[in-house]
Amino acid sequence: MEFKKIQLNGFKSFAEKTNFLIEDGLTGIVGPNGCGKSNIVESLKWAMGETSAKSMRGSGMEDVIFNGTSNKASKNIAEVSIIVDNTNHEGTLQYKDMDKVEVRRKIEKDKGSKFYINNKEVRARDAQMFFADLSTGAHSPSMISQGRIGALVTAKPTDRRAILEEAANISGLHVRRHEAELRLNAADTNLKRADELRKQQE
Ligand code: ATP
Repeated sequence: MEFKKIQLNGFKSFAEKTNFLIEDGLTGIVGPNGCGKSNIVESLKWAMGETSAKSMRGSGMEDVIFNGTSNKASKNIAEVSIIVDNTNHEGTLQYKDMDKVEVRRKIEKDKGSKFYINNKEVRARDAQMFFADLSTGAHSPSMISQGRIGALVTAKPTDRRAILEEAANISGLHVRRHEAELRLNAADTNLKRADELRKQQE
């Protein structure tokens, strides 16, 4: 799996449609202070399903929408697409056979945000799982924001486990296991309740 393109439209300082092509090899983004370098990294996190406005340096999720400048009107919609090359056929079963997958997130003022995979609307969880199955995601240890290197070095062993799990390609399994545990607990509660009702009938 490789990220091939990120497309931003109305996201933070990127008022107009902007394409970032990610070529083979190492990609560097350079520019003066405040030109939007961190916004690009945040756009990736956001499209991968980030739910915390704080981690997007905002007080609410709508803060990611371009809020205008002295010579440009604000926008009502922000969109970010990530185009993934999946010619080595990895990840979520449903998308494994596809050579190219586009994950898009769109937010509209007062209407919340929606996710799409290959133009079909999906749940936030589906987009998050898609990236988790590719061993990445909004909270991936490989997304290192400013000041995070120090935090990783001094992290507790339990927090560092996430890095090892990602390296071992089991991040998606971990989420699924947690969900399975929740379902099992719910089923157990239902069984106990059914048992109580049966006893009352006897
Ligand atoms: P540095 O090198 O200082 O870390 P940077 O290149 O990473 O800077 P960012 O932090 O990505 O820059 O971008 C900051 C800019 O984005 C600021 O000019 C800010 O006004 C602008 N910005 C943030 N959110 C929005 C928004 N919703 N609408 C318009 N502009 C925004």
